[in-house]
Amino acid sequence: MFDERLIERLGRIDTPFYFYDMELLRSTLSAVKEEADKYKYKVHYAFKANANGPILREIRDFGFGADCVSGFEVRKALETGFDPSKIVFAGVGKADWEIELGIDAGIESFNVESIPELEIIDEIAGEKNRIANIALRLNPNVNANTHHYITTGLEENKFGINQWDLEKVAKVLKRLRNVRFIGIHFHIGSQITDLGSFKDLCLRVNDLQKWFVSNRLYPKVINVGGGLGIDYENPDENSIPDFKAFFELFDEILELNADQEVHFELGRSMVAQCGNLISKVLYVKDGVNTKFAIVDAGMSDLIRPALYQAYHKIENLTSQEGEEKYDVVGPICESSDSFGKAVRIPKARRGDLIAIRSAGAYGEVMASQYNLRRLPLAYYSDDGLF
Ligand SMILES: *Cc1c(COP(=O)(O)O)cnc(C)c1O
Repeated sequence: MFDERLIERLGRIDTPFYFYDMELLRSTLSAVKEEADKYKYKVHYAFKANANGPILREIRDFGFGADCVSGFEVRKALETGFDPSKIVFAGVGKADWEIELGIDAGIESFNVESIPELEIIDEIAGEKNRIANIALRLNPNVNANTHHYITTGLEENKFGINQWDLEKVAKVLKRLRNVRFIGIHFHIGSQITDLGSFKDLCLRVNDLQKWFVSNRLYPKVINVGGGLGIDYENPDENSIPDFKAFFELFDEILELNADQEVHFELGRSMVAQCGNLISKVLYVKDGVNTKFAIVDAGMSDLIRPALYQAYHKIENLTSQEGEEKYDVVGPICESSDSFGKAVRIPKARRGDLIAIRSAGAYGEVMASQYNLRRLPLAYYSDDGLF
């Protein structure tokens, strides 16, 4: 994706910074839309993956909804012009002001994660003389086979309502007057590359659905969450995830009634590949059995490797000399501030431009000012600069 002209332009900008390929973003969004439309599936974009204005506006213009996990994200969705009737709000710990905000805005649904939360939403809606739409987030106890920090659908995780509470939830729902039950919601984890995990989810959904119907609670919406993984190893060969196979699987296995809607909440798969963290080599230093390429980006700019032992492909955009092995590390005072060990890249020298690929999701949004660094800036391929 980096041709000579682009590399020359990127080289003029102070590093580190994020660079977003907006053409790739649009191709990805149109692939999602085309495949989801085949089955009339509705997709809500998970804001927490990347909430930069230019990216959100593209997503809004494609007609996707918003999946929010904080009141701040709900507010951002409203400010960006997402239709409130396409905003859903999940999260285990919604504060009162966040619930009020959602009710005042008339969002599509609260994805409710516990009985106490359900009662508080009912109470706040009652005070406002409003009815709040709710979907129950259920813990399906399905293993996503991904890193344990991004596994969310097992009974030991904090998310969702567990099976053994279902009877109780049904009773509470029948008593409450200010909430309207619209559906059931699931989200089993992130960076899921084994479609078998989604198959397991569908089978659980089919079972759970029957339980609800037999308890005279009719879920109009089946929200199966997000989690589709991307190819971090081959960002150029597989720049757009296989949305066709993904949606096809749900169509094949989910058992639906005629007027039911299926909703998805995709984050990473929509925005990860369009983002890159661009950095420069400051120093090359010899270590024990290794060489360090010390770059000017650090874990404050991209924390995924330190937090989840995540892999990002690293490229030297400047050099074409023979490959050597480096530990590519940042300047921050933590040993975990490393982007990769024994990485093979063309021989690195001070000043070389380094691209850390597939950083569009859970990258810039997680940036911090640790070590009093400044937050990374963002540039977009259609800025005019490129
Ligand atoms: C994070 C999250 C998503 C998006 O997950 P991706 O792996 O980025 O697709 C969807 N739904 C909920 C409730 C989430 O918390």
